[in-house]
Amino acid sequence: MIDFRSDTVTRPSLKMRNAISQAEVGDDVYGDDPTVNELEQWSAERHGFEAAIFCSSGTQANLLALMAHCERGDEYLCGQQAHNYKFEGGGAAVLGSIQPQPIENEKDGTICLTKLAQAIKPDDSHFACTKLVSIENTINGKVLPLQYLADLRAFVNKHQLSLHLDGARVYNAATALDVDITEIAQHFDTMSVCLSKGLGAPIGSLLFGPTDLIIKARRWRKVLGGGMRQAGILCAAAKIALTENVEKLKVDHENAQYLALQLNNIKGINVNVSQVMTNMVFAKIDKSIDIYAVASALKAQNIIISPSENMRLVTHLDISKEDIDSFISALISVLA
Ligand SMILES: *Cc1c(COP(=O)(O)O)cnc(C)c1O
Repeated sequence: MIDFRSDTVTRPSLKMRNAISQAEVGDDVYGDDPTVNELEQWSAERHGFEAAIFCSSGTQANLLALMAHCERGDEYLCGQQAHNYKFEGGGAAVLGSIQPQPIENEKDGTICLTKLAQAIKPDDSHFACTKLVSIENTINGKVLPLQYLADLRAFVNKHQLSLHLDGARVYNAATALDVDITEIAQHFDTMSVCLSKGLGAPIGSLLFGPTDLIIKARRWRKVLGGGMRQAGILCAAAKIALTENVEKLKVDHENAQYLALQLNNIKGINVNVSQVMTNMVFAKIDKSIDIYAVASALKAQNIIISPSENMRLVTHLDISKEDIDSFISALISVLA
């Protein structure tokens, strides 16, 4: 199977499976799982935060962050395209009584600081209380400039707001910029990271932040049914994701560049290669191509794509350069 739909399809390596089988575990709701405790302590320090909490998913990590920062009747400012606005079932509003205030993202994925300032509500009982700015990096495969992050930090300080990063793919951003993860993390009060995407762990995300907020998050995680017992099984794989698979993201990015160039050689398919910054390729498919029929034909050859006129293809641990060559030749023959 060559699966371009997402980097979430990566399967745990043999080393992860072995670590899972050997993991020392306990009941984490009692705080007794040594593998969970070790991962949370080590990763908090590694990312430059006071504390960390292991979560079942990125959606849960983001929701815990929003619920730790905001009370009922508060609001957070975020991008119109933000995952934690658009793709998480409205969790903040549904479960947290927190109002999202989405603002159109700029082309580069940033949110204009002037527009953010205009969206901050005055201290008046007509309005929700603006508490938090939440951004995403990478966003649709794009990397936010470090200078923007510094400017945004100064902005939230000036307006006495807090700042959350949905860093589901923040390691892709650090890899693309060739900086240590702390160069990005330092600007944020809280940060979520997905371990189960490009980093290849089977399950889990981490939420980082100051101790008081992580204590609140832990309480909300229990309320949401996310108090997991022998979760050391998962954290054993997560540690390997963070220690061994970060380096490999470089290869995913190189493969995405290669894929973009190969696709661009095909008539009716257009990729703006300069916009391919990490492991995502967006290909514009000409109307003359029935991409849904193409997807079915490829599926018969064990190649999976998500057909769309503006089609996203994602490279990851389980896709090699040879797999891309196989895909391209299959695609060319299907189109012929
Ligand atoms: C995938 C993703 C999430 C959610 O992670 P899940 O583990 O799928 O719940 C959050 N934010 C962004 C930007 C993502 O890409």
